[in-house]
Amino acid sequence: MRVSKTRRHLEADVVVIGYGAAGAVAAITAHDGGARVLILEKQKSQGFMTSSFMSGGGFICPNDIQGAIRYMEALYKVSEDVYWTEPDIIRVWARYTFQNKGWLESMGGVMKFYRRGGEHKLPGFESIDVYHDPDRGPGLMRLLYHQVHTRGIQVMHDAPATKLMVNSKGEVTGVQAKSGNDEGQVIHVKSRRAVILTTGGFEFDEQMKLQYLMVYPTYFLGSPANTGDGIRMALGVGAQLWHMNCCSGRVVMKFPELLVALNPSLGGRDWISPGNSASLDSGSTRGPVSSTRGPLARAGYIVVDRLGKRYTRETFKPHALYYELTGFDSQRLFFPRIPSYWIFDQKRMEQGPLVQLRSGPAGPAGLYKWSADNREELERGWIKQGDTVEHLAMNMGVDSGPFLETLKNYNLYCKHGEDKEFQREPATLIPLSTPPYYAVELWPGGPNTQGGPRRNSRAQVLRADSSPVPRLYSAGELGSIYGMLYPAGGGNLAECIAFGRIAGENASEYPPW
Ligand SMILES: Cc1cc2nc3c(=O)[nH]c(=O)nc-3n(C[C@H](O)[C@H](O)[C@H](O)COP(=O)(O)OP(=O)(O)OC[C@H]3O[C@@H](n4cnc5c(N)ncnc54)[C@H](O)[C@@H]3O)c2cc1C
Repeated sequence: MRVSKTRRHLEADVVVIGYGAAGAVAAITAHDGGARVLILEKQKSQGFMTSSFMSGGGFICPNDIQGAIRYMEALYKVSEDVYWTEPDIIRVWARYTFQNKGWLESMGGVMKFYRRGGEHKLPGFESIDVYHDPDRGPGLMRLLYHQVHTRGIQVMHDAPATKLMVNSKGEVTGVQAKSGNDEGQVIHVKSRRAVILTTGGFEFDEQMKLQYLMVYPTYFLGSPANTGDGIRMALGVGAQLWHMNCCSGRVVMKFPELLVALNPSLGGRDWISPGNSASLDSGSTRGPVSSTRGPLARAGYIVVDRLGKRYTRETFKPHALYYELTGFDSQRLFFPRIPSYWIFDQKRMEQGPLVQLRSGPAGPAGLYKWSADNREELERGWIKQGDTVEHLAMNMGVDSGPFLETLKNYNLYCKHGEDKEFQREPATLIPLSTPPYYAVELWPGGPNTQGGPRRNSRAQVLRADSSPVPRLYSAGELGSIYGMLYPAGGGNLAECIAFGRIAGENASEYPPW
């Protein structure tokens, strides 16, 4: 094979690496601040698919800045002097996310109110409002891409950045990238003012997930292009990392034939999970849950562990359940909840696809087309079936004794309208009594990782000694400001819009070197 060693030299004031929501917002803002901007994007333009595009398009825009600060401090203050995220960053987050809706509307978007309330009932949680683009992730990204194009900002696809260049003062002065168009060609881009890293997380890097996340395997729903490249580049210039063990996660379906995970639609069509205030991200709802519109339960289901036992209220918080799967049995050396099993009966089977269709890989992204009646997936063996509960237990490979006991108890709770073990909402207690019975494996996973290079309130990437790496910024889920608990559905896009703007403003103001 002939390897060409040609080099290409380019120059811009601000180089943005990664063209998801954070990259687009950063590029627009830096351009409007007077900078000549170049975006380097790893993926080819054909088939280009970001996690931002695959998302539900929801974003936080608090209704009260002080209340939002209280809520975020309740989430991220561990003790007097230990924080997941420092108060000055929280204050800036609150001030900028408060402007999110207005900023998007100033770009020509029309954003709809989705719901009020943070995912966790902590002080200030009622200050969290969530809005969304009616066309979800695709709508939001079309809006941002249109703004990038109308400004004439140059976007180079098929140009994965590999390394940050620094001068003798330790300032970031450029980026090295590869060009897929010309085999072996190396691109050197001089950045006169700054570089902004917006390469997403490490959802598809197995080593990073093994080394950093709380449990392995963890599978994700977003773009397979997110392989932690920004983390490696930032480490190369001495950055420190944070939030590496945090991710917004729950349970997902994962099958060996697919690279990406799929989002289960647990209760069937029209199912509204009343146990959370943030089901927008999961794409599982038709609209806001209000006090006048209760949950519409269509089919029963439970989630059990490898021992055949329930372990949680299945109408879970969609960005925190993940942590419940990390319990390890040190005597028997295994994770009893990995995988878990989603158990349902023929009623759910007839409710339509077992996967969520409004966002994620089986949604508009079209990475997998799930059959309308679930038959194809049954034939593939992704769904296990049993004419009786005993038969299902055998096909799942779980001990039938505890499993039968679990089913018997659950059906009793349904009869009496009270879940004595996990206090699941009575309206969701629908018996499992219509054979055949089914099971699907559920794995730890979800939308995205949160970790990456640590940033400050000016979106500057920080070194190990907490001084900023000169001329290096970041935004989005790469080193997101969120610690263990995610504030609410819409948190990550809120941060893309807020910190994309902060990074773009500060990068464009940096005097050229
Ligand atoms: C199914 C799903 C639903 C979700 N719903 C919501 C929601 O409703 N609300 C919400 O707030 N969050 C949601 N999230 C999370 C949210 O979508 C993401 O956290 C957010 O979109 C990340 O945006 P980003 O710009 O940081 O990264 P991304 O959108 O992932 O973009 C990163 C870009 O960087 C590129 N890249 C990677 N490496 C390189 C490199 N070396 N060189 C150049 N380019 C590179 C990638 O190709 C990609 O284009 C959802 C996620 C998923 C998967």
